[in-house]
Amino acid sequence: MKRAWILFALALPACPQAKIDWDKQKAESLLHFRNLIQIDSRAGNETKVVAYLRRVLEAEGIPTKTFAQEPARANLVARLKGNGSKRPLLILAHTDVVGVQTEKWPVDPFGAILKDGYIWGRGSVDDKPVLTANLMVMLLIKRSGMALDRDVIFLAESGEEADTTGVGINFMVKEHYSEIDAEFSLTEGGGANIEDGKVVRMDIGTAEKVPARARLIATGTSGHGSVPRMDNPLIHLGAAVDKVGRWRTPMRLNDTTRTYFEKLATMSTPEKAAWYNGLLNTASAEASQDYLQQNEPQAYSMLRTSVVPTMFKAGVGANVIPSEAEATLDIRALPDENIPQFYAEMGKIINDPEIKIEPLPATRPGSPATSLNTEMYRVLERVSKQMYPGITVIPSMSTGASDKAQLRSKGQQSYGIGPAGTLNDRLKYGAHSDVERLAEASLYPFVEFVWRAVTEIAAKQ
Ligand SMILES: [Zn+2]
Repeated sequence: MKRAWILFALALPACPQAKIDWDKQKAESLLHFRNLIQIDSRAGNETKVVAYLRRVLEAEGIPTKTFAQEPARANLVARLKGNGSKRPLLILAHTDVVGVQTEKWPVDPFGAILKDGYIWGRGSVDDKPVLTANLMVMLLIKRSGMALDRDVIFLAESGEEADTTGVGINFMVKEHYSEIDAEFSLTEGGGANIEDGKVVRMDIGTAEKVPARARLIATGTSGHGSVPRMDNPLIHLGAAVDKVGRWRTPMRLNDTTRTYFEKLATMSTPEKAAWYNGLLNTASAEASQDYLQQNEPQAYSMLRTSVVPTMFKAGVGANVIPSEAEATLDIRALPDENIPQFYAEMGKIINDPEIKIEPLPATRPGSPATSLNTEMYRVLERVSKQMYPGITVIPSMSTGASDKAQLRSKGQQSYGIGPAGTLNDRLKYGAHSDVERLAEASLYPFVEFVWRAVTEIAAKQ
């Protein structure tokens, strides 16, 4: 009997899922999560987080390296070596958090207080859950002694929220890319959705829009406010902003957004499903867009390069016609947009020689959408379904921008993940809000989710 069992065990393929007792990991996950939130890491304080991570990783025998363009804003890299048969996997999270208006918070924003089943504090959603899960996964792989086919690289990066000097991902990509070069990367920008107490949908971030902001500048003749002039730049600028603000730019679906709306339809009410499916068919696309524009502006934005006027600047006095007026447009382009051609199109819509379009400097590189046809995407899909049977997995395109852009522009297939939350969590207690909080019950399964995804793609097969 014993002999037969040994033979059987030898015949099994190497199991990538080393057995983890997940109940036993809870206390440590919570400890790191709370400790990380308690480090006030608003821009300029990231090195404090790096010091913590270095201490924890090195205590387990995982060597770390730090890279800093500014001493107080360091980045940390740790690498678990594989046998090199496959290219590395990068798991990254940012260490900085956005600012706080302490008086608006119901609790200490850096207290990491546990109350009503939630951990409250700045960074509890953005981005310390991912940072904690990545840290735990590094520790657990190391402790398990698991053999790896590919290196697993851990990056804790500074300055994701505010990086005017390029201390974080820009610095790492520009100066130390060999340290984080990978085939796949996992970071913030996705998550699971809970409805009626059940995880029903997993969003995997596979694409994002590209900021392509511009200014509209109107020029005319200055003069006395008592004398009407038709070349008054405010009149021209007002008309131009009206036109571009109402412009329905061309709708264009890509792999991610087409799959997104198709899959969303399969799990929606018949009425909503009809609107989503309507996008896929020329005859009904216009009506579906009208519906989304009114009711789901975020989804509407996913269909197109969007143009949103955000700032006006003009005038020096109530009685002075200025010679110049300008408006800022927050343009968010589809990943494959030809930007110069788009500006030219916008010029035709404005149709006014008094208006000049001036592109603003790019804040992120253009980034192609990540493929849905990769081993990593399949693993994320499989792991989601193993952990939450019956779940729908949906690739999503963010209308905002993230550090995945820089990685994608270097050819990495970069995916966004995140812990589970309800719609209420997202709307009221989400990233950057004054009551940021994460359900304790969402933290632990997320650590397990990242572990499963990382080990499935990286463990020796
Ligand atoms: Zn973030």
